[in-house]
Amino acid sequence: VPDTPDAVLEGLDPEQREVATSLQGPLCVLAGAGTGKTRAITHRIAYGVRAGVLPPASVLAVTFTNRAAGEMRGRLRQLGASGVQARTFHSAALRQLQFFWPRAVGGELPRLLERKVQLVAEAAARCRIRVDRNELRDLTGEIEWSKVTQTVPEDYPAAVAKSSRDAPRDPAEIARVYGLYEQLKRERSVIDFEDVLLLTVGVLQDRQDIAETVRRQYQHFVVDEYQDVSPLQQRLLDLWVGDRDSLCVVGDASQTIYSFTGATPDHLLNFRTRHPDATVVKLVRDYRSTPQVVHLANGVLAQARGRAAEHRLELVAQREAGPEPVYREFPDEPAEAEGTAKRIRELIDSGVSPSEIAVLYRINAQSEVYEQALADAGVPYQLRGAERFFERPEVREAGVALRSAARFGENDTLLDGAVDLPSQVRAVLSGKGWTTEPPSGSGAVRDRWESLAALVRLSEDFARAKEGATLADLVAELDERANAQHAPTVEGVTLASLHAAKGLEWDAVFLVGLTEGMLPITYAKTDEQVEEERRLLYVGVTRARLHLSLSWSLSRAPGGRASRRPSRFLNGLRPGSGPSGARGAGGGGGIERGSGGGGRSRKRRGPVQCRVCGRSLTAPGEMKLMRCEGCPSDLDEELFERLREWRSGQAKQLGQ
Ligand code: ATP
Ligand code: MG
Repeated sequence: VPDTPDAVLEGLDPEQREVATSLQGPLCVLAGAGTGKTRAITHRIAYGVRAGVLPPASVLAVTFTNRAAGEMRGRLRQLGASGVQARTFHSAALRQLQFFWPRAVGGELPRLLERKVQLVAEAAARCRIRVDRNELRDLTGEIEWSKVTQTVPEDYPAAVAKSSRDAPRDPAEIARVYGLYEQLKRERSVIDFEDVLLLTVGVLQDRQDIAETVRRQYQHFVVDEYQDVSPLQQRLLDLWVGDRDSLCVVGDASQTIYSFTGATPDHLLNFRTRHPDATVVKLVRDYRSTPQVVHLANGVLAQARGRAAEHRLELVAQREAGPEPVYREFPDEPAEAEGTAKRIRELIDSGVSPSEIAVLYRINAQSEVYEQALADAGVPYQLRGAERFFERPEVREAGVALRSAARFGENDTLLDGAVDLPSQVRAVLSGKGWTTEPPSGSGAVRDRWESLAALVRLSEDFARAKEGATLADLVAELDERANAQHAPTVEGVTLASLHAAKGLEWDAVFLVGLTEGMLPITYAKTDEQVEEERRLLYVGVTRARLHLSLSWSLSRAPGGRASRRPSRFLNGLRPGSGPSGARGAGGGGGIERGSGGGGRSRKRRGPVQCRVCGRSLTAPGEMKLMRCEGCPSDLDEELFERLREWRSGQAKQLGQ
């Protein structure tokens, strides 16, 4: 922990220092990937707290994912600034809603709806509208779109006519299903994902007293990834901030990748117009990636068009030179996955930690073949989002019990006679009905037991790693991990979609499936949509610190017709694709050509794991969902995923 406030500023460059020390008035940081935006705002909060200007409890920092929020809290703690709220819009809103619901509405906040699609199906059936699975998905997508754009059922037909989209069926029918769906939710006293933000906005708008309480609590606001704020999130932010001006936003217009939720970089680019007295700081030094990776990222940006591109900032590499990015072409997809797994194996054998490696793809459905290849190569992996262990109810309850035991210490009779940390944990958990032996059979009881057993194992590992650790230390560790969303599983290679990789970084990044049809994805039709796909490539490239591999395959299945072409975004960048065969911006190397599986028969299927609890799945329905029936849906990411699917459904319709 730095011993003085000024020591918090060490390790920041002059512009980052300006960010960190500008504690008065609105502040906007515009900067490219890897320039230390997140670092600068984290240090700004820490500096403000340590200097006594920002009381920790009065700061609300908004990040894009729960993982980013956990990382920020951890970093703040290291800088001696604990107690700051770092949350996603969704989780901050949910917390406020839970707190104010009894006062605003009365009773408890309704529970979150788990199976939205089922309820939409029921509403459709009651409206006597027959839908198949795909139509149901489209219908659900329409309802979600309406909600994030704050369109009520009656206004849906007009809104959809005004938008550039096509309704998947008669708008009047959709409006009826949407209306009934809302009614069913009310009758059953449940709310859906979108309601959380909508209701929070509603309560803050209607109840001046509650809005004032929230404003008294939070006086300083910091928003990361501001380029992807949706209109509804912006509305919520406005309500939180009120007429005050302690607002700091950071973003990169070139990384706008969520415009399908209505997000636009306009909020970021127009910040100065809304806040004429704002301090604007630009950062250009890239601290994350080697000059080779930065060169390629600049090359991708140089070809970008549109409003976001007008504001691009060329990155200036700070790190030492590293290996050239590698371009690799494969005959088919399994060969690409196998070749990728092989290269990952080599990296691990040469000492790179699996947790420092990521495979990034355009859509989640691409993960399966990579899961299989990694499993076959004996490489541990995890799907992004498969880290929700600490959100399981039994784990949360156990946490509460452990915390109370830690507080009351030796006076807790539960701990009677338990001498070391793991036995104390077992004693507390047995008070919650946990037994040393697993219950017979499978199902929910067994699942509960498994979660608690994982907690016991975690406490054993912790006690081994930290001699003399107390229950209080363990509780602090659990909090830390829960915040960082770390499940007690082996750290593996990350498999993630480009959307989910936002803000993160790895030593080695494999961008796979870079073909026409995947990136840009088939349903990106308009110039604007294609530009967003290009920004996804920019996001992907800039996740790499050192090793970067870009690959594609010429056909889907072994022996298939070579029907795929490398992504147009690589033209002029990959070797030999530039004007008159000039060396591409991507570096001096050639394209490696991987071999196929040599007609070998398909190997056993790799395990498909639940992306919530990590358990191997066998039921086909669950495998498709990549989630156990009983596990809570991964809310933040699920919304985006569904919207993406909805868009793909829309595009199919257009194509027909
Ligand atoms: P993104 O746009 O991808 O979210 P970012 O601008 O938020 O990127 P950070 O994640 O804050 O960038 O920083 C990128 C990397 O560079 C991190 O590993 C960070 O620790 C490091 N870094 C940032 N600033 C400095 C600095 N002044 N000195 C050394 N390393 C730095
Ligand atoms: Mg960042």
